[in-house]
Amino acid sequence: MKKVILIDLDHTLIDTERVKREHESILRRFGVSASVSKKAYRKVIRRGFYHPVPHMHAVIPDSLSRRRALREYWQLFEKKEAYNFPGVVPFLKTLSKKYRLILLSWGHKDFQLKKFNQTGFGKFFETTVVMKNRRKEKDLQWFFGKYGGNVLLLDDSPVAISVARKIGIKTVRVKKGKKDANYYRRLLARIMK
Ligand SMILES: [Mg+2]
Repeated sequence: MKKVILIDLDHTLIDTERVKREHESILRRFGVSASVSKKAYRKVIRRGFYHPVPHMHAVIPDSLSRRRALREYWQLFEKKEAYNFPGVVPFLKTLSKKYRLILLSWGHKDFQLKKFNQTGFGKFFETTVVMKNRRKEKDLQWFFGKYGGNVLLLDDSPVAISVARKIGIKTVRVKKGKKDANYYRRLLARIMK
């Protein structure tokens, strides 16, 4: 049986920090201060998952400005070269030849899938799973039950990694922050060995 690799999206394959920074700079240009944005962000998160639309609604009351800000926000995702980490395409391409790849992401389903669909990574994945639980516990247990020792988790989240280890799933932790093509080459070698 081909080994299954569960792969996280945010910070693992895409530069979510950069998107967040650029999102904040759009808000500044529309006159929203960092503290107002942060407060609204927390409110959105408290209701469930992050989604840019309710966040923008909370901080930009004028509908015309808000539409313009949102358009700029969605345009961020059209620049793949800016938010896909360099080297991820060959990394996934090689992995997908040997393993079954499953995207295991958490958050607002529509938002996560919108981000994922624009990456162009879809062709390397067998399926995508978006979970409601940050710890990914239930889903990791399910995958362990189905594939046992034949499954590996690739994630930047220390919480998800520790949950997976406790269940008995093998893990490879992806470093936080900026990553270049060299990093993904080394990561590939580590997984393939
Ligand atoms: Mg992540």
